[in-house]
Amino acid sequence: MTRARDRRRYARAISALASDGPRCPRRRGERVVTFRATGPWTLERVRGMNVKEITRWLREDDDARLDELWREADDVRRRSVGDAVHLRGLIEFSNHCGRLCLYCGLRVENRAIDRYRMSADEVLDCARQAVEFGYGTVVLQSGEDLGTTREWLVDVVRRMKAETPLAVTLSVGERSLDDLRAWRAAGADRYLLRFETSNRTLFERIHPPRDGRPSDRPAMLRQLRDLGYEVGSGVMIGIPGQTYADLARDLEWFAELDLDMIGVGPFLPHPATPLGAAAAPASVVASAPGGRRGTSAGSSATASPAGGRRYGPVVPPTSEDPPPPAATSGQVPNTELMTYKVIALARLLCPLANIPSTTALATVNRAEGRELGLRRGANVVMPNLTPAVYRRQYEIYPAKACISEEADACHHCLTQRIAALGRSVGSGRGDSLNRLRCPAGARIAREATP
Ligand code: SAH
Repeated sequence: MTRARDRRRYARAISALASDGPRCPRRRGERVVTFRATGPWTLERVRGMNVKEITRWLREDDDARLDELWREADDVRRRSVGDAVHLRGLIEFSNHCGRLCLYCGLRVENRAIDRYRMSADEVLDCARQAVEFGYGTVVLQSGEDLGTTREWLVDVVRRMKAETPLAVTLSVGERSLDDLRAWRAAGADRYLLRFETSNRTLFERIHPPRDGRPSDRPAMLRQLRDLGYEVGSGVMIGIPGQTYADLARDLEWFAELDLDMIGVGPFLPHPATPLGAAAAPASVVASAPGGRRGTSAGSSATASPAGGRRYGPVVPPTSEDPPPPAATSGQVPNTELMTYKVIALARLLCPLANIPSTTALATVNRAEGRELGLRRGANVVMPNLTPAVYRRQYEIYPAKACISEEADACHHCLTQRIAALGRSVGSGRGDSLNRLRCPAGARIAREATP
């Protein structure tokens, strides 16, 4: 589909939304207002949801009430972003990382993985494959790898934009404003950077500063928006120490940050990380179909994913690591069900955002995790294009779904799953509807108005 047709389709979808739609940008503390339904269903209950109401939904365990939530999220998804499922080809181009994040298997202290960096030509080959498969977007993801220089990525993005019609999304961690500006100027369209948790203290414990400089991911997300990127963020669900109030606040942040893309997934302990080493011994808990009450990524807040396999020696925390946070009494479980709740609530709070049904979800329920995500608010899937030889080494958490499949196997499996849901595969770039209704210039002007 051409961009002009995309725009017309988006304009139609927007006019279907009531005029008190999500304003942009929201200011911190401002009440979150979702749009009023114009159809037969009503969203009165979720309009003006505050942290307390969001928390109630997160704690809800009545199956009938949850069915209502799934239905509403699916309705809002269909009316606001349509039935198309957009495919984003994921290219994990480097697993080098200079960080010591307590949750991630790529952390610099993990010596059990072989480190790789794909060449520019290899990355370009993956992008060509994305075009062949009909994807509109590629996501270039890596650890926070300072060996990926500004110039190298400028060259890759430029070549990609010159040779293909793809939208290019970057997900390479925290980088300088000059890097972000150069990549945007080279043609990068979107940037993904999860804030991981809105609880600042918890974030600082699980994400130690690099070179003594504390991170400010919300500030970086605003910078990205001002540079004209489509901006995506998200969180992990069930981080040890994360409370229901934290997670409700995370959801509020999605709306306040006016995100164009929202990615969430359960926290999955990796044995070669301090949070994984602190977790219970690797137990394998298969989740029952449906993601109902009691189904989970495991039996506790720090369980192993279904289908988990054994790993090499667990790397103990280094002396510089802060002590890992312990689960608290109001601990959010890292379950499949909790992930669906967050996807559904994110859809209600941010109706126009692109929301993927993530690999982490497919990892905890291989049989139908992705499908259930798509039926409970999500509209994006990210098939993996990384060559299998590298993919095995890109292990942010263990037993990642599709870890050994080649790109064409992933492609066929996913397109069949989407068709079986009665949904269509999106054509075109699948730009964010949220972004199109509120272009960067308008946002900045609004921000400048007292
Ligand atoms: N270096 C980039 C990309 C990191 S991987 C960055 O920092 O943005 C992308 C995401 O994977 C992370 O943002 C995190 O939310 C998720 N992730 C990392 N380790 C995880 C784990 N053990 N369980 C679940 N998700 C994890």
